Amino acid sequence: MSTTKAPEAKVTIPVEGMTCAACSGRVQRALETMEGVGSANVNLMLKNATVVFDPERVSPEALVERIRSTGYGAELVLEERSAFDEQEAQDRVQAEEFRTLARKAAFSLVAAALGMVLSMPVMAATASGVHGGHAGLADPFMRWSMRVIDPWLRGVVPWIYAVDHRVWLAVLLTLTVAVMGWAGRHFYTRAWAAFRHRSADMNTLVAVGTGAAFVYSLVATFVPELFSRHGLAPDVYYEAVLFIIALILLGNALEARAKRQTSTALRALADLQPPTARVLRDEQEVDVPVEEVRAGDVVIVRPGERIPVDGEVLSGASAVDESMLTGESLPVEKGPGAKVIGGTINRTGSFRYRATTLGADSVLARIVRLMRDAQGSRAPIQNLADRISAVFVPVVIAIALVTFATWYLLTPTAPLIRAFAAAVTVLIIACPCAMGLAVPTAVMVATGRGAGQGILIKGGEALQRAGDVDVVVLDKTGTVTEGRPTVTELEVVEGDDELRVLGLVASLERGSEHPLADAIVEHARRRGVRLAEVEGFASQTGRGATGVVDGSAVAVGSARLMKEWAIDVMPLRDRAEALAALGRTPVYVAVDGRLAGLIGVADPLRAGAREAIAGLKRMGLSVVLLTGDNRRTAEAIARQAGIDRFVAEVLPEGKVEEVKRLQAEGKVVAMVGDGINDAPALAQADLGIAIGTGTDIAAEAGDVVLMRPELDGVSGAIALSRRTMRTMKQNLFWAFIYNVIGIPVAAGVLYPAFGLLLSPILASAAMAFSSVSVVTNSLRLRRASLAAV
Ligand code: ADP
Ligand code: MG
Repeated sequence: MSTTKAPEAKVTIPVEGMTCAACSGRVQRALETMEGVGSANVNLMLKNATVVFDPERVSPEALVERIRSTGYGAELVLEERSAFDEQEAQDRVQAEEFRTLARKAAFSLVAAALGMVLSMPVMAATASGVHGGHAGLADPFMRWSMRVIDPWLRGVVPWIYAVDHRVWLAVLLTLTVAVMGWAGRHFYTRAWAAFRHRSADMNTLVAVGTGAAFVYSLVATFVPELFSRHGLAPDVYYEAVLFIIALILLGNALEARAKRQTSTALRALADLQPPTARVLRDEQEVDVPVEEVRAGDVVIVRPGERIPVDGEVLSGASAVDESMLTGESLPVEKGPGAKVIGGTINRTGSFRYRATTLGADSVLARIVRLMRDAQGSRAPIQNLADRISAVFVPVVIAIALVTFATWYLLTPTAPLIRAFAAAVTVLIIACPCAMGLAVPTAVMVATGRGAGQGILIKGGEALQRAGDVDVVVLDKTGTVTEGRPTVTELEVVEGDDELRVLGLVASLERGSEHPLADAIVEHARRRGVRLAEVEGFASQTGRGATGVVDGSAVAVGSARLMKEWAIDVMPLRDRAEALAALGRTPVYVAVDGRLAGLIGVADPLRAGAREAIAGLKRMGLSVVLLTGDNRRTAEAIARQAGIDRFVAEVLPEGKVEEVKRLQAEGKVVAMVGDGINDAPALAQADLGIAIGTGTDIAAEAGDVVLMRPELDGVSGAIALSRRTMRTMKQNLFWAFIYNVIGIPVAAGVLYPAFGLLLSPILASAAMAFSSVSVVTNSLRLRRASLAAV
């Protein structure tokens, strides 16, 4: 959209009082339509707004003002907090929200039960003397209670029938005012705020529905003659108001509790950080708070303890359980030089290590931050729910008015009461609360589930896209293979000395970062070859390297490189082909313009690669191997891995082209790589999956990061996405079906034929149930199988 690069700033503002998708949609639109705002993402679950804006044109304070103008509360968080603190703060807010709602729901439920009991003597009294008794009583639920509860009450507490019913009316009125004014207060204040901004949301429906019933009851209480003059019982609907508020609050409380559970995975991650670490200070072992550990400190870990911070092992050895971060179930052996991650558990031995990354840069903090961002992000399918919610409330209010008019005009007896009850029921059953929860709760649970298996999905969009993938492109080195190659053969042209050639090559390769170069340097070191200085080192990307060593011009790399340097590889070509047929990489060496030798480098397949690829195929995905390595090697590796299609001898730019070519065929492409020379291809792909190594979460590249290198994470991510999409669609269906069926029934379309009507009380119970069922359905993803099926 913005072609000129405007300065950008990003701020996250907590927003208070949003209860449904219509609310968050309203805040979002208000922000988006503001001058200087690039994009806004308002999250109903995390109750915040993340805004990208141009700081020269708009200030964060203005953004806060804008949010407040929509009727919701907003405040700027001044100091930058750590991911752990933020998580904790959010937990506290969520726990508090649940407690408050639970208290209010409990109070209202007690009041509602009491209200129901007291309604019996009131109804009995008001009916007497009125022709037709309670024929006009439109609420089927109350009709039922008159039939069942009334006789029972007369037996148990007959005295309540002896008291003047006006006393009970006063008590009912008091109870209702208390519930409306305290427990249900926010429905009215928020509805009013929405009204002032010419919009309406779920609160509007509850407020209008219960408000109308309340006003009606007030009139019946204070001017009953108005009813009796027309031969009607002056029925009050206090108990309906009480029940509606109580049930909706109960639903909200259950929903708040379930919503807290959607973030348990993240909470568990944040809790991995141990509070203290044992470090060496002045030759003394002392326990210090983790925040006080400094880079370079020597940390001591004993068996069974949690590793406090990231670092590198100095001495000792152990096996470390990293499953909580990488999903790897077997403990990982660690010796001197190995990297350890804060939050993992030391199993068998004890060791000392040097602290490296700390605080916000630690692996755990970065994962928690990544997951927090992911959980708060939107999945595109949410737009559907938002579009529906935006038009929903006005449409429902229109339907309620039509319902009222129709009943009023067509009912012979007590038209006002019936019209009124039907309209209120329509308002209550139509609350779109569940629709706002359908997608975000699934995103929360699914990203948490993935994280528990070492699959970090960076957001709702990536989560949704993973489910649509048709083609999985696998980079060879470091992805399908281990990426830790070793030299297996070294052959020199007649007359050359093996160690001299190795020395020249290794000296040159010291300047290269390629895994092949590391293998060659390592091999030379093991054979005790002395390495020399290099002049004019040049990395020939995707082909090899060149430079001058000891006065000789040395070139090392692929056949392509040799061809570019006009070097005849004939003498060793057959040997090279034979190596390639085994899946090894032949690396040519030329010295002073003449072929000098050939190095065979083997990079074995990753454990489980074959099975993982078979799994991808079972899921109906096509798998393509992509490599800069030569054709023969690629073919052999593809065969070993069970991949039918491969593209070899591509330069790093060529990988991007290959991904584009597949996309041009209309395929949704996932690219899996280690981010070493395939970052551009990862970015080009519809879904970039970066293979991490546990310590390096390759946070920059990729929409999905696999915390452990096994390829089953690829099918795991796609399987999780497919299941999540299914859950989201079920959620949307269930959220919607209540309304689609409920609204016409509430309006009374089944009444003429079947005499069937909904009661406002049953409608509020149904709405509460619908929200809870949607969140519960999302929670099932916590145990979703990630197996390739
Ligand atoms: P991949 O796609 O497998 O990651 P690259 O694009 O990194 O492969 O490299 C392609 C080929 O270029 C290698 O298979 C190798 O033949 C050659 N090559 C690249 N860098 C070097 C190097 N430093 N030393 C020797 N050969 C190299
Ligand atoms: Mg590579």
